[in-house]
Amino acid sequence: MPDPSQALATIQDRIARACRIASRDPAEVTLIAVSKTRPADAIRPLLRAGQRDFGENRVSEAAAKWPALRDECPDVRLHLVGQLQSNKAEDAVRLFDTIHSLDRPSLVAALARASDRTGRRVPCFVQVNIAGEAQKGGCPLAALPALVEESRRADLPLAGLMCLPPLGVEPAPFFALLDKLAADIGLPGRSMGMSGDFDTAILLGATHVRVGTALFGERDG
Ligand SMILES: *Cc1c(COP(=O)(O)O)cnc(C)c1O
Repeated sequence: MPDPSQALATIQDRIARACRIASRDPAEVTLIAVSKTRPADAIRPLLRAGQRDFGENRVSEAAAKWPALRDECPDVRLHLVGQLQSNKAEDAVRLFDTIHSLDRPSLVAALARASDRTGRRVPCFVQVNIAGEAQKGGCPLAALPALVEESRRADLPLAGLMCLPPLGVEPAPFFALLDKLAADIGLPGRSMGMSGDFDTAILLGATHVRVGTALFGERDG
């Protein structure tokens, strides 16, 4: 496993380089360290190195791991990058600072109720099923305008759009499409790009890149 703080410096360099090429300000790009399945001891070196944005894909795992880490480092920002069941919406709103997986009207309603009950208004990215993959989560392209409209009516703060392009094919066209959709809707955020393609995503407008294995190494098991 690479030293995560060493890997962090390398990734920050690559982000800076992609921003230079694209004439973008690196401050426009948030690196989310995706720490799902990683123990607290693997996360601490990144906290010591100054990393503050972290991603988890399960509410229960985050609830077990992060309260203690947050006591050590109160200014951490947690991002939910995995599918969210409506019955976990309130836990998610209490625990996370940003949700990247808003994908259906029933979840809009659940998050609106959770916001009322907790008094917390958590910015959300609408996850788009960008390639129309049957087995994948995300809002179908055709349903996107209605979902955005519904979120605005429910007073959910929308941060932008998020996508997970299909595995094994060139992701650039999908990043370009997400960028265009976000521009058409008038949303500033584009959550796209992972370990294998975050440089490309930044060239195409990513504001949030979600990086796991390039920071922490391959997952075992
Ligand atoms: C796991 C995960 C990532 C990180 O993927 P890597 O290829 O390990 O960088 C990014 N986004 C989502 C939604 C994930 O579930």
